[in-house]
Amino acid sequence: MSPLFSSSVFHEEVPILIVGGGPSGLLLAYLLAQLNVRSVIIERYPTRLAAPKAHALSPRSLELCRQAGLDVNEIRKIGSPRGDAYWVNFITSLAGKQVGRLPYERMDKEVLNDTPTMIHNIPQPAFEELVADKLAKSDLVEIRKNHSFVSLEQGDGFVVTTIKDRGAQKEYKIRSRHVVACDGAKSAVRKFLGVTCEGEETCETMMTIHFNADLKPVIKDRVGMLHWVMDPVVSGFIIGYDLSGNQVLICNFDPEKHPVDSWNEEHCRSVIDASIGMKTPYDVLSYRPWILSRKVARSYRVDQVFLAGDAAHSFPPTGGLGLNSGLGDVHNLAYKLAAVHQGWGGDKLLDTYQSERRQIALVNSSQSVKNGKQIFSLLKALGTTDPDVEVCRQNLYHNIQDADAMIEINKGIEGQREHFDNLGLHIGYVYGDKKIPTNVSHFQSSCVPGARLPHAWIKVSREKLQLPAIDNSYVHELSEDEVCKKQFSTLDLCGLDTFTLIVDETRAPHFKGIIEGAIQELPREVAGVLPMKLIVHGVDFALQAGPEAQKWTELMNLKKQAILVCPDQHILACLPCNSGTVQLLKSLEGHLGW
Ligand SMILES: Cc1cc2nc3c(=O)[nH]c(=O)nc-3n(C[C@H](O)[C@H](O)[C@H](O)COP(=O)(O)OP(=O)(O)OC[C@H]3O[C@@H](n4cnc5c(N)ncnc54)[C@H](O)[C@@H]3O)c2cc1C
Repeated sequence: MSPLFSSSVFHEEVPILIVGGGPSGLLLAYLLAQLNVRSVIIERYPTRLAAPKAHALSPRSLELCRQAGLDVNEIRKIGSPRGDAYWVNFITSLAGKQVGRLPYERMDKEVLNDTPTMIHNIPQPAFEELVADKLAKSDLVEIRKNHSFVSLEQGDGFVVTTIKDRGAQKEYKIRSRHVVACDGAKSAVRKFLGVTCEGEETCETMMTIHFNADLKPVIKDRVGMLHWVMDPVVSGFIIGYDLSGNQVLICNFDPEKHPVDSWNEEHCRSVIDASIGMKTPYDVLSYRPWILSRKVARSYRVDQVFLAGDAAHSFPPTGGLGLNSGLGDVHNLAYKLAAVHQGWGGDKLLDTYQSERRQIALVNSSQSVKNGKQIFSLLKALGTTDPDVEVCRQNLYHNIQDADAMIEINKGIEGQREHFDNLGLHIGYVYGDKKIPTNVSHFQSSCVPGARLPHAWIKVSREKLQLPAIDNSYVHELSEDEVCKKQFSTLDLCGLDTFTLIVDETRAPHFKGIIEGAIQELPREVAGVLPMKLIVHGVDFALQAGPEAQKWTELMNLKKQAILVCPDQHILACLPCNSGTVQLLKSLEGHLGW
């Protein structure tokens, strides 16, 4: 037992304890293992819950998976192929009429100018399994299933957590330097710490119905990721995780007409029947009511304990931002924890987790609620306000045949475009920037502190990167030559385990000297462990030719400045060419908090 840990009774010690083995907890453990930090995950349930929940991995989530060594080509082989997920359908029912459609997020080939990894749809349990399989091979992670958080005590620089082994019905204590609560929206850790949330509830009452059915013969070639059903009995959508099996129907209902307590399997069946629109066999697996609301924890850190993922923020699934925000959280937190555990970051660095990530949750949560309100009000307004369902149906079928009514309906559908294109939120957030985006679909890369390093396709030697080439051949519109040129991104230049200074070849000797000078000046305990890499444009990599290369060159302006990038691929500083050691040290010290 180390002297630091001797003052309190405990049974084991581990550097980091993670509470919750959902996607946020699993990815955090994986990232920490990549950074050589050991962790234990405790997960309340013995097996993964069957309800599929999230389906969309955003471009940013895939970028960070790639950076951490999860092969995106492998991820893309699981889940919905691009062609099947490309559309959002607006329909009277699955077997009924298609009233309109919108693209589902950005899966056009042009989006590859902004990100190397376009969105991919994969059921949440499949993603969790993929990460868990990697963890099973790691000596640095242990997952304890059927173990639940009970309480914790914080000491001077450590936490003792009481855990219940639910199988053995025994409690035990683990001492760790840090605890990260990834235990979901109802976080027991958050409640235990007394952390309150800001947010609000709307008056929209929702029901999630999980059922299984082979819907392929019903929808035929009208494939899509989401199917918004306008039938007045439904007023909701089906997520097409796997149209031959698992389905979730999320619908908006009037609690005055159908109080929550009155819902039973029979009523669920009447809603599912209306959404399918023809007889087909299925089982109702579960149903659960919820209120469209948003919650963001007021504090993401209480001494040595952090909240991440849904434990820190929860919002409706309209926008597909929940899981992706959680993955962004743990990506941001992992290198900071590693820095502190390995001695190259001070405790103040850990405060930047909240200052950087909480604003993202505030924006994403508000947008998800806005998306939800807008779309459900469209469904309600489609001539379906009469209390008599049959009258509503007649109105709906009449309106969709009526050219004038269709002008308004099409406008209503068009008005939902922003809901289904969140590119600006997925990759456009800038740490430290409090501006609320006016249109979340709009993305313009920027080279300022806090922004994610702008992406461009590069030529680089494979040995240097040790990353698999991205295989973009699933984008059938690309020529062979284009697929060949789109294999490596500028983002690949920035490792998870290092700061990266990107410079032009003409300025390389100057900045090499500056790094050497800075290392001399660093506190002794930091100098030997601070990871820093110099990447030289024109030597280590070259841009693939094309208009996007020119844009990147102008944006980065490497003839006049060097770009210092954090291990999470976000820019820490743009250092003018005449910078000296002092400027580099100031940027690092300000962030790392020695
Ligand atoms: C229908 C639906 C569709 C969605 N679609 C999307 C989408 O497309 N894209 C997107 O980004 N998000 C989506 N979401 C949101 C997404 O599912 C969540 O944001 C995500 O699950 C959060 O992951 P997490 O790891 O933070 O929490 P969770 O997934 O909730 O995991 C928390 C884990 O902690 C465990 N736990 C709880 N209490 C304890 C305890 N006391 N001790 C130990 N362990 C505990 C739980 O068992 C669980 O395994 C959707 C959600 C729903 C319901």
